[in-house]
Amino acid sequence: MNEFALIDRFFNRGAQDPAVRTGIGDDGAVVVPSPGCDLVVAVDMLVEGRHFLAAAAPVTLGHKTLAVNLSDMAAMGARPRWALLALALPDCDEHWLADFTRGLFTLADRFDVTLIGGDTTRGPRNFCLTIVGEVPAGAALTRAGARPGDDIYVSGSLGDAALALAVLEGRAALGAADFALARARLDTPEPRVALGERLRGVATAAIDISDGLTGDLQHILDRSGMGATIDVALIPRSAPLAALCERAGRDLALACLLAGGDDYELCFMAAPTSRDVVAAIARDLDVPLTRIGCVSTGSGLVVRDERGAPLATLPRSFDHFS
Ligand code: ADP
Ligand code: MG
Repeated sequence: MNEFALIDRFFNRGAQDPAVRTGIGDDGAVVVPSPGCDLVVAVDMLVEGRHFLAAAAPVTLGHKTLAVNLSDMAAMGARPRWALLALALPDCDEHWLADFTRGLFTLADRFDVTLIGGDTTRGPRNFCLTIVGEVPAGAALTRAGARPGDDIYVSGSLGDAALALAVLEGRAALGAADFALARARLDTPEPRVALGERLRGVATAAIDISDGLTGDLQHILDRSGMGATIDVALIPRSAPLAALCERAGRDLALACLLAGGDDYELCFMAAPTSRDVVAAIARDLDVPLTRIGCVSTGSGLVVRDERGAPLATLPRSFDHFS
């Protein structure tokens, strides 16, 4: 199969979205933005040996390639619309491609995202997806708006993806059922798109937690020119992580909760006057939204342990070049 047959067979699904005037097959895609909307654009790359292992299941790679980008749209409060996929593959393995595109398009269909273009080359496996979303003009959430006294929230629970990775790397042990749940969070994260959209006009700042809570929260504080205090005891966690905290694995549990990447939950700030609104969003979406601390003037992030004492050192968040 040549390059163009491959694109046609696996990636070109024909017209779906009336807002796409020209999709796959031309030199560029032409889309019609919704009136009164700003476009929000993001790109994320997954590299073999760095973000995933050569043996990783293609269906989960297809899911994750899109999921991490949908998570960026969620953090901006945007509705995802269109995607472009730049893809390097070592060979044209039809089974592999069928599985990869099944993972990709199953998630794309759930969120009404249309693939409008891309690029395909031979090379070490590498997936680079660009996503385009929309928000009502001026309504995008950013990292820059946190204010003193704002509550700090996180969605869902943190640390499970990092815990699964620790088990895969032989640094921890879990029962089969617990491991399956943790592993699903690592392989097939669920982007919080509906939550991001509901937080427009409510959250003062937001970020998705891809590299670990403390590191990602610090990005908000840096961009907002603020400091913050959070309490370890308040960070929402799954039952296996809670059990690990009680046992000898406390250091690992803390590292998962504070610095574990790959959960793709949202961390956001909102004024204390918005507590009822946030609680209503949590109920409507059936997503736990937990208050873990508050924003202060000045700079610096204080993380208090279960007794209220500041942690002297924080587990390090992920950084490709540290
Ligand atoms: P060009 O030579 O102009 O860069 P290509 O030959 O690379 O165009 O691609 C042909 C068409 O197929 C373009 O519309 C491009 O956007 C699309 N395309 C290429 N690879 C992919 C892919 N992996 N997924 C979706 N569309 C793709
Ligand atoms: Mg090209």
